[in-house]
Amino acid sequence: MQYIDTHTHIDGEEFKDDLELVVQRASNAGALKLFVPGINLASIESIRNICKRFPDYCYGMIGLHPEDVKEDYASVLDKMEKEEGNWIAIGEIGLDYYWSREFEQQQLEAFERQVQWAIERRLPLMIHCRKAQNEMVRILRKYSDRLPGGVFHCFTGNEHEAEELLAFEGFCLGIGGVLTFKKSNLPQTLANAVPLNRIVLETDAPYMAPVPHRGERNESAFIVNIIEKLADVYGVSTDEVANITTENARRLFPLAF
Ligand SMILES: [Zn+2]
Repeated sequence: MQYIDTHTHIDGEEFKDDLELVVQRASNAGALKLFVPGINLASIESIRNICKRFPDYCYGMIGLHPEDVKEDYASVLDKMEKEEGNWIAIGEIGLDYYWSREFEQQQLEAFERQVQWAIERRLPLMIHCRKAQNEMVRILRKYSDRLPGGVFHCFTGNEHEAEELLAFEGFCLGIGGVLTFKKSNLPQTLANAVPLNRIVLETDAPYMAPVPHRGERNESAFIVNIIEKLADVYGVSTDEVANITTENARRLFPLAF
């Protein structure tokens, strides 16, 4: 079984002591490639280092995460825009009103400007959205005839929300550990409203570890638990889940293949 982890923060502090082993376990479990989203200026360097250390295995993205958007966001984006690199996507970018709406206006502006980068550079989008789907959809619709596709990462919404997102052509939903949580409605939602060819796999490591690892530090090897659950939801083999989601990732992130 071979799969892609389309969203893992292995450049983070949490992995600094045993990164080699984490990547080895991922590879042993079947992870073909790991995609590492950017979150701020500091992560540009840490992701470059990871990609250098694991060439043809780790691939980086560039972007300003909504929780890192503050008053100075415009100058941060000015700096980011000048950073060269083999980025495979713009991300993770988006809107997050879960903890605070303090920088609501700045988040909207930062998100829109980065959507424009993705369009200009023809790079896919890695989108993070919490408690802000209406606002996010409103911005994306302004560009709907030009969007380069991408991922709505960590999707946990209902059927209506899934349908609204899948109306954007060339986008997939990122599915991770939440699918395996006992009280999650996600299995039902996926079965009813989301075809397997619109799903990519992700850990969001170190967060969101799937059952039976819930509460632990997450890592790419744990995607096997998500694949097993998806096989159950769709009534297909684990190989089929792995193959189709890998094909989806290949379609979305051509620069990583
Ligand atoms: Zn993330």
